[in-house]
Amino acid sequence: MPQAGSTPANTPTHCPYCALQCAMSVSPGGPADGTAGSADRGADVQPRQFPANGGALCRKGWSSAQLLGAADRIVEPLLRGPDGVLRPAAWDEVLDLVAAKVRTLRAAYGPDAVAVFGAGGLTNEKAYQLGKFARLALGTRLIDYNGRFCMSSAAAAGNRSFGLDRGLPFPLADLGGAGAILLLGSNVAETMPPFVRHLQGARDAGGLMVVDPRRSATARLSDDGAGLHLQPTPGTDLPLLLSLAHIVLAEGLADEDYLASRTVGRDAVARSVAPWWPERAQATTGVPADLLRTAARRLAEAARAARAGGAPVYVLTGRGVEQHVNGTDTTTAAINLALLLGLPGTRAGGFGTLTGQGNGQGGREHGQKSDQLPGYRKITDPAHRAHVAAAWGVDESLIPGPGVPAAELLHSLGLPGGPRMLFVHGSNVAVSAPDAGRVMEGLRRLDFLVVADFFLSETAAEADVVLPVLQWAEEEGTMTNLEGRILRRRRAVTPPSGARSELWIMAELARRLDSPGRFPTDAREVFEELREASRGGLADYSGIDYAALDAGEAVYWPCPADASPAGGTRAGGAARDSAEEDSAEKDSAEKDGLAGSAPAPGPTLRGTPRLFMDRFAHPDGKARMVAVRFGAPAEQLNLPGTLTLLTGRLLEHYQSGAQTRRVPELNAAQPELRAELHPATAVAHGVADGDMVLLSNGRGRVVARATLDSGMRTDCVFLPFHFPGDASANLLTSPATDPVSSMPGFKNASVSLSALPAG
Ligand code: SF4
Repeated sequence: MPQAGSTPANTPTHCPYCALQCAMSVSPGGPADGTAGSADRGADVQPRQFPANGGALCRKGWSSAQLLGAADRIVEPLLRGPDGVLRPAAWDEVLDLVAAKVRTLRAAYGPDAVAVFGAGGLTNEKAYQLGKFARLALGTRLIDYNGRFCMSSAAAAGNRSFGLDRGLPFPLADLGGAGAILLLGSNVAETMPPFVRHLQGARDAGGLMVVDPRRSATARLSDDGAGLHLQPTPGTDLPLLLSLAHIVLAEGLADEDYLASRTVGRDAVARSVAPWWPERAQATTGVPADLLRTAARRLAEAARAARAGGAPVYVLTGRGVEQHVNGTDTTTAAINLALLLGLPGTRAGGFGTLTGQGNGQGGREHGQKSDQLPGYRKITDPAHRAHVAAAWGVDESLIPGPGVPAAELLHSLGLPGGPRMLFVHGSNVAVSAPDAGRVMEGLRRLDFLVVADFFLSETAAEADVVLPVLQWAEEEGTMTNLEGRILRRRRAVTPPSGARSELWIMAELARRLDSPGRFPTDAREVFEELREASRGGLADYSGIDYAALDAGEAVYWPCPADASPAGGTRAGGAARDSAEEDSAEKDSAEKDGLAGSAPAPGPTLRGTPRLFMDRFAHPDGKARMVAVRFGAPAEQLNLPGTLTLLTGRLLEHYQSGAQTRRVPELNAAQPELRAELHPATAVAHGVADGDMVLLSNGRGRVVARATLDSGMRTDCVFLPFHFPGDASANLLTSPATDPVSSMPGFKNASVSLSALPAG
């Protein structure tokens, strides 16, 4: 792997954090002498024009380069000694030891003694190679990843309804001209602030409608004009959506021509929503019936205008409605509503879901999931297995069958029949997994834990071996953002001499394990193989190469090798048409390969910017309307004396906070766990603003500082999930999972709250 050599100024790349993948330029900001771990290895970040961020960055993006030179960066492999202390060791020593442990444990317990946990932040190349490494080099069927905790319900619903899962099946810039947007369970104003520009059209039109039990920063955006905030009882998004559909149908506002020509299942959905008249929904959701009627009528009126050539209308979901044990059905209900309004696959608008992690989209396409192979192929389908085996150059019999989803995997660590050894790449499961205390117990039961990371995260601190890896600005690769657009990540600074690419680590271990298949260390070479493995699959990258991306082309999958630019896929992609010309792509051109990006004409569009314009991805080309029903939650909420726990993110932090808690200015702004409470709730519990409180349930106990917010419901408490130890919100969250997607019910927890004595 390249370790030396100069790095140019203003290297165009993208932010290391969320799925918006804001464009930035990075310049080495110090003597990049390869002696990492010193503060003089910093870099300078400047935003670039790009449709997703419009030249803006949030605080996390602006400060992201500070981590490149962080003083506590791991720059040598660490090995736990007999005294229990992690100490520096040589690469050969730790890799030999890891390979020996794999062999020993496989011999003793079988191939599934070893498991792998990946991440939605890994590049496409690393995600692809990790799936292959697990199955060929380790021979295990046990691989899953933290995207199971983010996008699995949305993915399952998209596959079920449309036959294909892509977070936004249209360019993000399309949202900017919307006349109305129904946004459910997403706080973009904090999680990805530059996204707010895409809500401006709907805000100006008084058409922004936000569904969130919390009066979040995004919900407050609906204060503009005639926007709406619907604040349901937690866990009742599904009946709220059923009622909106009920109103649309009952008042004759559905687009029956569209339903007849482009969908199947309309009547079954009509029957399933019939009982949800607004007054009944009000009793369940707490949202006034008149407000439900207003929202449904406004959406339908805007959709009617959109079909007549007016501004488009969108229904968008986020984790707030998806991270439930009925998350797939709730997302399905949102899709049903969009279909009733005649939106998906038309110029009148659509349905989309807002991916969270940096490569949350690409990370779920290339084989990290327990049941999938690259290209969104099914691991149980003989033809799919044969295609991938050919791309890997191995016999199909060497690819193991399906494993188990993330929560089940993590909660079986070290138990009889469960994995004895775990590889963790790009994830901090000790903080981010549901019922995190149980996960920590599992990590400690393991015979051997290997963690690849650049900081000693809470998970890495439990490891037997820590492998120091490169950060985003130190390596080449690609990411796929929330709209299915493939982006180049580029090496902008010289990495520390002791850190290694995960591609190199996998290659070295595969060699030591006499693995079949090739394990290249060059990202471009891995991408070339990924193209072949995905060829003909739903997420087809075969027509994409680094040269096109470096030339500044805007490439959206599916992009088959034999397709002309922008169009012609079996997912009904939009042909390049006159509407493409007026896309906001045009006025926010990104010449992604050009440093400094001078004003230029719009980038050449390749692949499929808009899905489903001719047909949906089911064999008959029609969307499925799936009747869903509201049942009792896995955990009883709203019991007397308890509060419902809401979890989410803060502007200053990302995921488990393992990175952002190390950025001084971000940590200074949000240094500790704060529990948001309504003032009346605080009074009822004898708590004042700033008091320390204890939150507890049968799974754990969390200590937080109370902060009062009249935007909270009185039956809820909000905790961000960025903090470790006894400030980890996930000590309290539920491990129960959605039966379709295996998404944990992060938002289905009940807690008790009490004041802690001062001092
Ligand atoms: Fe953009 Fe997200 Fe990075 Fe913020 S964290 S700069 S919103 S990509």
